[in-house]
Amino acid sequence: MILDAETVEDGARLDCDLCIVGGGAAGIAIALQFLRSPLRIVLLESGHADFDPKTQALYAGEVADPALHAPADAYRQRRWGGTTTLWGGRCMPLDPIDFEARGWMPHSGWPIAAEELARWYPAANALCEAGAFDYSARSAVPGGMRPMIAGFEPVNFSADGIERFSTPTNFAARYGHRLAASPAVRVLLGANCTAIETNAGGSRAELLRVRTLSGRGFTVHPAQVAVALGGLETPRLLLASGIGNAHDQVGRYYMCHIAGTSGRLRLAVPGAMVHPGYERAEDGSYIRRRLHLSAEAQAREEVGNAVLRLHFPRIPDPGHGSGVLSGLYLARHLLPYEYRKRLENEGPGGAHHLLAHLRNLVTDPGSALSFATSMLFQRKLAARKFPSVIVRPPGGVYSLDFHGEQEPNPDSRITLIGSQDPLGMPRLRVDWRHTEGDLRTAQVTFRLLAEDLARWGRGWLDYDTAELTRDILRDGAYGGHHIGTARMGHSPRSSVVDAQGRVHGMQNLSLAGSAVFPTSGQANPTLTLVALALRLAARIEREALAPLAVSLSAETTLPPRPAPLPAPAA
Ligand SMILES: Cc1cc2nc3c(=O)[nH]c(=O)nc-3n(C[C@H](O)[C@H](O)[C@H](O)COP(=O)(O)OP(=O)(O)OC[C@H]3O[C@@H](n4cnc5c(N)ncnc54)[C@H](O)[C@@H]3O)c2cc1C
Repeated sequence: MILDAETVEDGARLDCDLCIVGGGAAGIAIALQFLRSPLRIVLLESGHADFDPKTQALYAGEVADPALHAPADAYRQRRWGGTTTLWGGRCMPLDPIDFEARGWMPHSGWPIAAEELARWYPAANALCEAGAFDYSARSAVPGGMRPMIAGFEPVNFSADGIERFSTPTNFAARYGHRLAASPAVRVLLGANCTAIETNAGGSRAELLRVRTLSGRGFTVHPAQVAVALGGLETPRLLLASGIGNAHDQVGRYYMCHIAGTSGRLRLAVPGAMVHPGYERAEDGSYIRRRLHLSAEAQAREEVGNAVLRLHFPRIPDPGHGSGVLSGLYLARHLLPYEYRKRLENEGPGGAHHLLAHLRNLVTDPGSALSFATSMLFQRKLAARKFPSVIVRPPGGVYSLDFHGEQEPNPDSRITLIGSQDPLGMPRLRVDWRHTEGDLRTAQVTFRLLAEDLARWGRGWLDYDTAELTRDILRDGAYGGHHIGTARMGHSPRSSVVDAQGRVHGMQNLSLAGSAVFPTSGQANPTLTLVALALRLAARIEREALAPLAVSLSAETTLPPRPAPLPAPAA
């Protein structure tokens, strides 16, 4: 059932077995595991199906360095479905090395092994609608995928790994009807959780305070709580509630990815031997190869995980001569802020460049028109959208799109500030930092590719370290990947949740989402956070049903069920 929180009576008390806080990918993935459960589930979601500026404004906060991090209310969506209403859908699992405590990377190491998460990835892949759980170019399509660069066999990189793309699935639009039809799950939209209160000893979450934008308030009294508010809002709620922070760990280790497009790659092979774009797997999902820095190279060079993709030249620079890229640049105002920002940051602007872009369009109208048509049909109108723009650069000079891991850094953090949102919650302050190690990962990745190409003798990578650093730092934190702010670990002195996702020292409060990742790896986070959410749901269900099973085996009557939710007010 899906209800508006405005229909719950002011001052009401709702009892349930599990309260899920947040209706994004993580929260919805958990709720879907209880559709036919005997347990009673309440899902509190701040937003509604449509974007609402007043609700979104609850995300506003302060940013320490606006040049390095987007405003706190950008790159995340406070609405039913969360940021899957906006995401790009790139899916890939973490790599085995990401789970290891790496001697060269302080604070690395997960308390669970890669094999543990591997059990949940296939179901996560299915929920994300990213096709089969197969991330090898050899087996993802019958006969294998085309090579990215035929004949190039790098020593330091694997060219076999692929990324898969979700439709990209909006979890609310795709799965909302199942939740609406479930007798076990009640979704309350417009329900903002403003605080979690514990028992006197702080070992149990006793009640959740909920408020609506119209001023209505009620409480939820759950047996179990799963907080799934995303990587920025989860630490905000914990800090505002004074939970899990005995050792000043909540909000620290904030990571995004470091990313940027740089360098000039020239290949002395016919264009037909280079395949920078997508193929489709048998199930229709888009798949694409990339160059992945090998685990051996990471360990030898003592750097983080990273990937490179073949990319077209910088769009804002009309020197590329491409009508398609110039058309994209001129139409950038039509893109959502989150996708436009990179283009605008890249500069250069001005009348001179405008004219040069217009010249490109006029001299190359055919490709611009066929591109616009294919984008209309393959991206705007298609159920499974073409993931991104792919353009073969005129002149065959590619740039490289770098996406790399950030080191966990306790000084990169989320804190609360004095000002409050209209619901009385303290707003957050984002102080995202990068390290020398992060930049070194990018520099080493480019150097090793240049060496591999030189060894092959049919390609050259021209890049400059200072330019690379500028290109990486131009956009600062890679938007939308909010990682590590309530990390998983063995000890409350160095983490917030245990290996089961439970807040240290608390019996019934668990966290879902990329906040709990101890390290970021090179992979985009959503597939992994969905896999972790499924694991969390299974553990909560097991624990919640255990008393019922014991009662049944003892042939006693079932324990009393929590009181049902009150009927919606007229
Ligand atoms: C432009 C863009 C592109 C992206 N592309 C990719 C990609 O290609 N691949 C990838 O893996 N990831 C991508 N991401 C990241 C991805 O969108 C997120 O990792 C994912 O959506 C996070 O899901 P979540 O459920 O953890 O958090 P969220 O989506 O943030 O969900 C949190 C939910 O909690 C609700 N909420 C917030 N506060 C409260 C409160 N106090 N009470 C009740 N409810 C509340 C929110 O309304 C929201 O629905 C992208 C992000 C952006 C911005």
